[in-house]
Amino acid sequence: MQVIKFGGSSVANAENINRVVEIVQQAVQKDKTIVVVSALGGITDTLLKAGELAAGGDENYKEFLKLSEQRHLEAVKSLIPVAQQSGLLSWVKQRCNEIEDICNGVFLLGELSSRTRDRIIGFGELLSSKIISERLKSVSTPNTWKDSRELIVTDSNFGFATIDFPATNKKTQEYFSGKEDSLFMVPGFIASDSKGATTTIGRGGSDYTAAIFAAATNATIVEIWTDVSGMMTADPRLVSNARVIPHISYQEAMELSHFGAKVIYPPTIQPVMNKNIPVWIKNTFSPNDYGTLIESRAVKNGSSIRGISSINKIVLLSLEGSGMVGIPGFSKRLFEALANEKINVILITQGSSEHSICVGIDEAAIQQAKKAVDNTFAYEIETKKVDPLLIERDLAIVALVGDNMKSHPGTSGKMFGALGRNGVNVRAIAQGSSERNISAVIAIADVKKAINVLHEEFFETTYKQVNLFVAGVGNVGGRLLAQLDQQRKYLEEQLHLQVRVVGIANSKKMAFSEEGLDLLNWKQSLEAAAPMSLQEYIDVIRSKNLRNSVFADVTADEKVAQCYDQLLSKSISVVACNKVACSSSYSYYKKLKDLAREYNAMFLFETNVGAGLPVIGTLNDLLRSGDKINRIEAVLSGTLNFVFNHYNGEKTFAEVVRQAQDEGYTEPDPRLDLSGTDVMRKIMILARETGERLELEDIHNISFMPEACMKGDVDNFYKEMGKHEDHFKKLYADAAAGDKKLKFVAKYENGKASVGLQHIDANHDFYHLYGKDNVVLFYTNRYTEQPLVVKGAGAGAEVTASGVFADIIRTAKM
Ligand code: ADP
Ligand code: ASP
Ligand code: MG
Repeated sequence: MQVIKFGGSSVANAENINRVVEIVQQAVQKDKTIVVVSALGGITDTLLKAGELAAGGDENYKEFLKLSEQRHLEAVKSLIPVAQQSGLLSWVKQRCNEIEDICNGVFLLGELSSRTRDRIIGFGELLSSKIISERLKSVSTPNTWKDSRELIVTDSNFGFATIDFPATNKKTQEYFSGKEDSLFMVPGFIASDSKGATTTIGRGGSDYTAAIFAAATNATIVEIWTDVSGMMTADPRLVSNARVIPHISYQEAMELSHFGAKVIYPPTIQPVMNKNIPVWIKNTFSPNDYGTLIESRAVKNGSSIRGISSINKIVLLSLEGSGMVGIPGFSKRLFEALANEKINVILITQGSSEHSICVGIDEAAIQQAKKAVDNTFAYEIETKKVDPLLIERDLAIVALVGDNMKSHPGTSGKMFGALGRNGVNVRAIAQGSSERNISAVIAIADVKKAINVLHEEFFETTYKQVNLFVAGVGNVGGRLLAQLDQQRKYLEEQLHLQVRVVGIANSKKMAFSEEGLDLLNWKQSLEAAAPMSLQEYIDVIRSKNLRNSVFADVTADEKVAQCYDQLLSKSISVVACNKVACSSSYSYYKKLKDLAREYNAMFLFETNVGAGLPVIGTLNDLLRSGDKINRIEAVLSGTLNFVFNHYNGEKTFAEVVRQAQDEGYTEPDPRLDLSGTDVMRKIMILARETGERLELEDIHNISFMPEACMKGDVDNFYKEMGKHEDHFKKLYADAAAGDKKLKFVAKYENGKASVGLQHIDANHDFYHLYGKDNVVLFYTNRYTEQPLVVKGAGAGAEVTASGVFADIIRTAKM
């Protein structure tokens, strides 16, 4: 004997039923077969809704009944040849009339008992199984229809009836052993109590029906045909990377389904496991896919876990109080109070301090639970030995499941590390001593993020998704987007990273797409997008709550820099090309660093000094390895370097500055470069990275610019430079007279920093510095006589974008 079950979507309409018929026809050639079917997809809900509306006095229930009738009649009309339709049509109509009579009664009484509810929704499976049975007959596949209610016996716990296995097995065995037929068609989900009333065995219960029949008949296999190609590593509706698990043990399948993997109804496993009957999950819509085989010992898959699942709508109840410590009996009374109310406890934790016991239950039972527990402990509450029951709502459980977690240290470390890095707060943790399941209670709002993060962490063949938000899409931002587009394939193949640009913004517009913006057409997307509001942009980034979120600030805007704290405190990493944050007050810089540490996010700003050159990274590596920075000497302004390398008295100084600006080397406001302020900011950032508490005012700046140039606006700046051409000529001539070059040099030594123009002779490291190059010399305990030198282009959109790019990848690799 084999048992084959088809779920609601597999029999949702005539087209799908025809697929089912084909599968059944092939199956009967192998062995005697029992086919179990669900109601046509969605019908159970439709009938339930009708009953509830009727009970609430809402006449709309008739619409739902009409909908249900239509769907069944349509199925009959498309599946059965016209000449043979009438008998089945009138049978279907009679059943629909029965449902309507019951609902009319419910409407009049204004009350829907759970007994009547089961009666109503039970019609769904009755109708579908009969229609499919007739269809099979009409295509020369004889079969015997049998009402499961005559075989499966339950108690009278309507809606969730418990199977009376001895009675059920006896009836089932008697029936099937006496029959020579090779194909049976039965409705899933329904059964009857000892008085013959219709019961149902829990939503999704047709899977269970199949397992009950399989166990009773000692079947060789149970096949569960559904709309996915097997049990997957995570709910495919939440995790797009989820993949099919080809082999899984009974225990693992049971754990996954108990924790929300809807593909199989949890009680299904027990009866077949006891008899070692394999369960094969198959896809009706892709029958050649292997599917998932559930059996006693599944082959290993190379990962310590097999799958991840979640249940929403959990509440945590905490019983706390100093009066509990060391006194036995509290937990017994707590669980008794819940059990008396038939409240199912999903998760239990107790700290070894015994100061509190915490249980997770379904949200639906919250009022009952509160009342029962507060009553039970009324005396202790009054005498302040324990506090009134504490309730936390809007929670969910995520669970890692796998037989191999046992003897694999580090699984929970990895789990909580990954959640922590993504700002998912864990409210409670439970691990069964079977070591087959680690569960964490988290906020519902974090579920999707958490499951995806864990999936990326534990299933390595898939890639890790980085969700990037970019602010500023000018020169550097534009190059960054182009580089991301160009490197997409490399990142996916070599680093298993997929960087999705989920948001872009400039000062006028902001655009979002959770699937990732098209990087070839981002300009069009931005044009068509909503107007920019900085706070809204930040709010959207925060509320999207996506895993591995990174914010890249490619503006030079102070207001944007002021938002980093809002992001870091949500565990969103910040990559700043913008220097404002690190060069504003020391307290803000420190605050951001602390927030990053506190919330496990990264705050990276390599491009603040030397554009794409590895200056800050190198400095940090030296410090981390125990070296001590004694002195830094650097030429840090690509702009000033360009200007002094090009200025030789032929073109005017103003013209050379203009050229630097036109070629994109200057800050958006070139006065920041020419005044030396930009260099001050850079040397300050380096000094701060060594641990120095410096403010901008502490840095000595010997400016070479005439004061008049720095008053007024940028136009005035250029005008005044023109007027002071003689001053600049003299600077040049003085240096040239001694065969020296002009360089704007920054220094940091003994806690003091300074910047200023210097004459550099031919022996100096700075002499041969061309174009827009920067150079940094680190004199340290290890690099004493010869400094460690970092040198290369220190400005330009392409190199700066590549530095930002590298920081983004760094956040993903943490
Ligand atoms: P049926 O109607 O065939 O009984 P269900 O809707 O009850 O089908 O179950 C199948 C659905 O379960 C899939 O469409 C999928 O969306 C959902 N699902 C949730 N978790 C998982 C998982 N881990 N693996 C596969 N499917 C899952
Ligand atoms: N039709 C029932 C439900 O929707 C049973 C099942 O589909 O398994 O819950
Ligand atoms: Mg199901």
